[in-house]
Amino acid sequence: MITIDVDMNKCQHYGQCVFEAPSVFKLNNDDKLEFTATADDSERSNVEAAIDVCPMQAITIVE
Ligand code: SF4
Repeated sequence: MITIDVDMNKCQHYGQCVFEAPSVFKLNNDDKLEFTATADDSERSNVEAAIDVCPMQAITIVE
């Protein structure tokens, strides 16, 4: 299990993370980011890809 944190003060809701890990990140009807705080280990590489593409460096995996 991995724990995911997004600094919502940094997040600008661009949504790049949604393309990399759609089972963890989504944009809601107001185009605001929503995410699951925990995910299966199998999602780690997708979340790491989301971390890499996030222009605001807002995403972290909490170890
Ligand atoms: S890529 Fe980063 S800035 Fe964009 S919605 Fe995801 S967490 Fe927010």
